[in-house]
Amino acid sequence: MLSPGEIKLRDGRSVDFANLDIAATAPCLRVVADAVADLLPYYGSVHRGAGALSERCTREYEQARETVADLLGRGPDDTVIFTRNTTDAFNLLARALPEDTTVITFDTEHHANLLPWSNTVRLAAPRSPEEAIEALEISLYRRQTGNVLVSVTAASNVTGEVWPVARLTEVAHRFGARIAVDAAQLAPHAPASLAGLGADYVAFSGHKLYAPFGAGVLAGRADWLDAAEPYLAGGGASAHVADDGAVRWATGPARHEGGTPNLLGAVAIATALRALVRDAAPRAREAGLVRRLRAGLASLPHVEELRLFPADAERVGIVSFAVLGADPGDLAVTLGRDHGIGVRTGLFCAHPLTRRLLAEAADRAGATEAPGQAVRASFGIGTTEAHIDRLLAALQ
Ligand code: PLP
Repeated sequence: MLSPGEIKLRDGRSVDFANLDIAATAPCLRVVADAVADLLPYYGSVHRGAGALSERCTREYEQARETVADLLGRGPDDTVIFTRNTTDAFNLLARALPEDTTVITFDTEHHANLLPWSNTVRLAAPRSPEEAIEALEISLYRRQTGNVLVSVTAASNVTGEVWPVARLTEVAHRFGARIAVDAAQLAPHAPASLAGLGADYVAFSGHKLYAPFGAGVLAGRADWLDAAEPYLAGGGASAHVADDGAVRWATGPARHEGGTPNLLGAVAIATALRALVRDAAPRAREAGLVRRLRAGLASLPHVEELRLFPADAERVGIVSFAVLGADPGDLAVTLGRDHGIGVRTGLFCAHPLTRRLLAEAADRAGATEAPGQAVRASFGIGTTEAHIDRLLAALQ
């Protein structure tokens, strides 16, 4: 993994940076950086030129798509579209839905999976995976007309809690609904394949998957996507434009990949996914780090963990908490400048959920006022026990 090495603290000491903000953007894997660097000398146009460079780049781009498709367990009716990120993937899917589609989400979703949809039903925050399944079942039982798309996260970016996606998929399919999975936070920690989850669509971002910024994936059933208006009208998305302006749009993934595609982003994602599938060991270590951090936080009287599900629910490497009596912004600066620790503070683009969990945390701690922001520590490949201990010591 590429690392920034040592950084200087306010008091002049140098320490290795404890990056505990990996859920926001993960560092780049060495193998990904190498794959991108190897391609740079051969940089040429994709799908648009003749000659050795263009041929190579077009081949690399389509090979990246095939690699992603294979690793996601693409079925015969599925497609893989490269997008800018998860937000872009959900906006694309939202535009491609047939007109009579109702989208069912939970209040707890990241804004990327709350705001793109127009005709929505929002289910109240469930207090356990079982409650989520039951709420979906009841909602689908009541709603029998038109197409229904259920769109849920696989792992919360606020609490790290893992959602029961396979069981939600089973319920959705039982009622003839489709299901889209926001795998932005699951994919860096565990396999998030269409085949494994049984989902109809899966979306995730390269920059959370140890690859650089600027590319993401929407994979899943091609029929609605093939029938939809192109997401970005322009070159690449158009097969033929007549003199009178009539357009015949491209079919397949090109229909929604208007403009010159992000070759390096696609190659980076394919390389990262392959590396994560091959070497799951660093991810297996995460459960131990989660336990260590949560146990340490539980022993701090002024810190209250945020959680929606029961305390023993399965989690990825994300733990958010309220620090009572401290300004979260000041705290983040102190952690950064005095301890060499990077965390995230705020409402994490999941405002309704985080506000609610902050209020509950303040209640549990008997505080009169809830903090306006939470603190989130998130980790993954490269995180050590020493990083976790440094955070705990600093909070102490
Ligand atoms: N979904 C979840 C669960 C996330 O954590 C994020 C980013 O934090 C997103 C969606 C949006 O990802 P991006 O900003 O890469 O579009």
